[in-house]
Amino acid sequence: MSVALTYDNWNQEKLAFILRERSDYLDILKWAFQEYQDDEIVYSCSFGAEGMVLLDLIHKVKKDAKILFLDTGLHFQETYDLIDRIKQRYPSLNITIIKPKLSLSEQANQYGDALWKCNPNLCCQIRKVEPLREALKNAKAWISGLRREQSPTRKYLQYINKDPKFQNIKICPLIHWTSDDIMTYIHLNHLDYNPLHNQGYPSIGCAPCTLPAANANDSRSGRWAGHTKTECGLHQL
Ligand code: SF4
Repeated sequence: MSVALTYDNWNQEKLAFILRERSDYLDILKWAFQEYQDDEIVYSCSFGAEGMVLLDLIHKVKKDAKILFLDTGLHFQETYDLIDRIKQRYPSLNITIIKPKLSLSEQANQYGDALWKCNPNLCCQIRKVEPLREALKNAKAWISGLRREQSPTRKYLQYINKDPKFQNIKICPLIHWTSDDIMTYIHLNHLDYNPLHNQGYPSIGCAPCTLPAANANDSRSGRWAGHTKTECGLHQL
């Protein structure tokens, strides 16, 4: 049996072989679920539009795949409602809701009210980065819906990435998809999606940090408006 590709066991020759044999998103997903055991691979899903596509694709490949949602406690009600509907649509998927160690009131007591306004990096660290780090402790690989088109910082992403942030392998099957590809797949396959996408929100995160996109050519221009921050800190790009 060959040794799985891991952060500590990164092997450029093996990677080249994997990529030579596999040419598209579905090949990559099939490889991922063969390469790693059930508990070794998770999909961290934000339940955005890419998430709807990836959940559907993953369900075709691995019916009981492990899915994580980082519940900061600050998401839009539309997002929580969508998750409930997705659980009904794909009952075999193993969807786990991950919560931060600090409740919102504990965070407010410790750091003051509305930390997202005065220090969004710390807020993301507490409510997203540390919970994901904990969730990935025993995983060898995680799947993400990042796409190259989304921002200049994402344009060099590969299908399979060495992820120094979480000392893990990060698999991004949708790197070549455009936002049009995503919505076309959603409509052709009659998938559910967050209704906020139809109200000017191409990218949806926590409610206090997400506005409708200010720039039609920049899907993430509604995130952390008024701050220089462009990423939540989960992705070291
Ligand atoms: S996106 Fe905003 S509210 Fe959510 S964790 Fe980050 S700073 Fe906090």
